[in-house]
Amino acid sequence: MINSLKQLRNTAASTGFQSSLWGDIRIADSCNGCGACAEACPTAAIVITKQDDLCSISLDTSRCTQCGLCQDVCCCESIKMFSTVDLDAMLAQIPQVLIIKKQKDIDNLLEPLEQRMSRLLGYVIKN
Ligand code: SF4
Ligand code: SF4
Repeated sequence: MINSLKQLRNTAASTGFQSSLWGDIRIADSCNGCGACAEACPTAAIVITKQDDLCSISLDTSRCTQCGLCQDVCCCESIKMFSTVDLDAMLAQIPQVLIIKKQKDIDNLLEPLEQRMSRLLGYVIKN
């Protein structure tokens, strides 16, 4: 299968093929780096790296099966999954960086627990 796709790369447009086997995701700037998507991903397609002041999220398209779990667990609705896959990225079979965030920007996005519970439950929690 991989060899066939490599042949396809030599004969056709190299990007954007429709796939039901592999998937792609995009991550919006609203991502707070919580890591839930990487923990939920059953194939380890999503990799989160935290180093110094930076948090990066990468995707190995060749591991993504379009299961949608990452999209389902994201509390910020920051992930969107697509069935159009970049052929070069898929054939590379290594994680491609989707987003890099600074820790201070992440800190600004983190919602206090009480506030989050209030939002989810629909009423104000008083201490
Ligand atoms: S995309 Fe969503 S689940 Fe993944 S790290 Fe960002 S906020 Fe968390
Ligand atoms: S759609 Fe599924 S396999 Fe693909 S990155 Fe998300 S959780 Fe992982």
